[in-house]
Amino acid sequence: MCYLSYAGTEHPTGGQYGLALDPVATVNFVFIPPVNLQQQQAKDIVQHSSILTTIKQLSQTRYIFAPSLEIIFGSVKGPDYNSTQQQIQIPYHYITQLLQHIRDTGIYPTQQQRYQATADALLVTLLHQIGHAFILDRAIPVLGNSESTVDNFVTILLLNDVDRGDEIAINSGRFFSIHELNNSTLSTNHFIQQHGLTPQRYQHVLCLVYGSNPNRYQRLFDSFPLAQRQQQQRQCQTIFSTTHKGWLYYLDN
Ligand SMILES: [Zn+2]
Repeated sequence: MCYLSYAGTEHPTGGQYGLALDPVATVNFVFIPPVNLQQQQAKDIVQHSSILTTIKQLSQTRYIFAPSLEIIFGSVKGPDYNSTQQQIQIPYHYITQLLQHIRDTGIYPTQQQRYQATADALLVTLLHQIGHAFILDRAIPVLGNSESTVDNFVTILLLNDVDRGDEIAINSGRFFSIHELNNSTLSTNHFIQQHGLTPQRYQHVLCLVYGSNPNRYQRLFDSFPLAQRQQQQRQCQTIFSTTHKGWLYYLDN
């Protein structure tokens, strides 16, 4: 490790405060003022979570937008990316629906856990929209399905750069998988219809997680039939490695 020293003085922080300024964040957050308690709750969930910090940090290092990208919470429409306005729109009622769906699963006993799971799901949605924006911004060639390309972008970022990102990726099937959402209000949401993880897409996300560290995630396919499990175990390391390399080429660092 290289420590910079200034005028011969010992620097207890290894010089980190003496280095250049932090890179500028290239996303801006706008909150439309809530008009009722439900919207206020949705806004609170976002503001009390770490997702704004995560999104902002990644915009300094991984996806750098010029001009910067605006993220509007409390819009009427969305979730959506509007390329003309360089804007991502997230309605408060979408966050309320996520919370409701997470409540309905019955697997998060405390309110704090439900809020955390809602924030995790929202992070996936935000990264998904940012993925669409980034692909367009950098004119990244999409060979095949654009949703799968975005799934790769989200999963690679979660695995590389986000605290608890592996857990969030593994849970993303629970948040968004279509077959679990048939009786939920979420299935009528346009975003979910368009972007919801099909079982195939979710399996691919799991494959990337597994392939990133087969020892660590060796139990991930336990519920699969043996032949399928063996196939995943054979392929996923290569699939992860190719996808990872591909995205690192495009992502800033
Ligand atoms: Zn999409």
